[in-house]
Amino acid sequence: MTRLLRRTIDAGGRFSARLQTGDLMRIVDLKGQQAVDFLAYSAELPVDRYNAANTMKMNGSIYLGKDTKLYSERAQVLLTIVDDTVGRHDTIGGCCSLWSNVARYGVKDSHACHANFVAELACWSLSPADIVANVNFFMNVPVRADGAMAIEAGLSKPGDYVELRAEMPVIAVLSNCPQRNNPAAGFGPTPIEVILRQA
Ligand SMILES: [Zn+2]
Repeated sequence: MTRLLRRTIDAGGRFSARLQTGDLMRIVDLKGQQAVDFLAYSAELPVDRYNAANTMKMNGSIYLGKDTKLYSERAQVLLTIVDDTVGRHDTIGGCCSLWSNVARYGVKDSHACHANFVAELACWSLSPADIVANVNFFMNVPVRADGAMAIEAGLSKPGDYVELRAEMPVIAVLSNCPQRNNPAAGFGPTPIEVILRQA
């Protein structure tokens, strides 16, 4: 196993990388309760990108954990979660944005995951139109029997991590959520660490 990269991503920061088939990407929640918004694209055909509905249907769950696979729009496996110390990650909450922070909290001019995605996707010649419903690692969005859902306090503790294996060449993009108005980032965003390894 060769380490390709180890980087701390500041609270509210962003990151992306191209992974080859078999490469491992570990995301470490250094302080706990820190949501990490995540998108993935086929590196060879970026229009074939992470698809939340296919991922839920193929895994038979709205939550992600060890051994679940992230599926694309064309129902190809982009990545597999090969290790996970938390056991639950969100597929339905989407990313925070300037606009949703105004609508939900009356907060103007906030930094948000959507802007991070726009900036990071530009590095790969991808546009805002390439942003789709994303994965939220470490974010706790339970759905009740009556259908009620809410962002609740995160379950991750300091040092918890999730590790993904690329099942095809992928562009992985993440935003270390800057949200301060709900528990997604424990009301106080903190740094994460990304470790890339080659098998
Ligand atoms: Zn966010």
